[in-house]
Formats: sequence, C-alpha cells, structure tokens
Amino acid sequence: MLGEQHRINVSDLIWTSVAQPRQRMIVWLGVHGRLLTKARMAHLNIPVDDANCCLCSSQVQETAHHLFAECDWFKEVKTGVLQWAGVQLPTGDIKQVLERIRRKHWKQFYKEVVVALWSAIIYQVWKARN
Ligand SMILES: [Zn+2]
Repeated sequence: MLGEQHRINVSDLIWTSVAQPRQRMIVWLGVHGRLLTKARMAHLNIPVDDANCCLCSSQVQETAHHLFAECDWFKEVKTGVLQWAGVQLPTGDIKQVLERIRRKHWKQFYKEVVVALWSAIIYQVWKARN
C-alpha cells in the first residue's frame, strides 16, 4: 500500500468533505501564498495605511507566516481550540502543518478531521483580520 500513501498529497487533505468549502478555499490560497495579506498588497503596489499586523501588538508586518505561525493572537486562538478539541497539531506555518499531518501515521479520516480543524482556525483568524 506504499504507492497509495505516496499519492496522498497536501491538496487531497484540503479538499475533503470534512472541511467547509470557504475554509478549504482560504487554506488553499494560504498554501499557495495567495492570501491578500498586507505584505502581499504592498508587493502588488496596492496602497496600505498600516502594514503591521492588526491582531497583536508586535508592530510586525502582516505576512502569512506571521499571521499563521508567529502572531501571539493567532497562537492564543490556536491553543484554545486545540485544547478544547483535545488535538495535538504539528508546528509550522499553514503548509508545514499540512505536510506534517500528511506524514503522520494516522488513519486517513483522522488526518482529514485534523486538517479540517486546522482549516477552521485559519479561516477564523483570517476573518478576524479582515
Ligand atoms: Zn500578529
């Protein structure tokens, strides 16, 4: 069954029936670096009043990596949700977490559930900063 394991990639874990469509979309955009963060807006020459993260007080530019890996506000939300759900999530940014879940020796359905939870966290944080 080694071949079957190899065919499962991160996309297969995102586009499942477990996660909500709008959550899957945000995660997909995040994995491909397409979320319109303030850093990306600046890169695309879209005027931004304040390029810093608006969720924490770090005065750090809002990048996807900051929002979904380093931001204290994000970490607090993430820790709270994971404690409530009784789930341990690998560390890293959006894509790294997905890659690490993919490599776990978990049942496929459990992976999908954990990815759905990760997707829900990302979605809520993304919604909060908009
Ligand atoms: Zn922040």
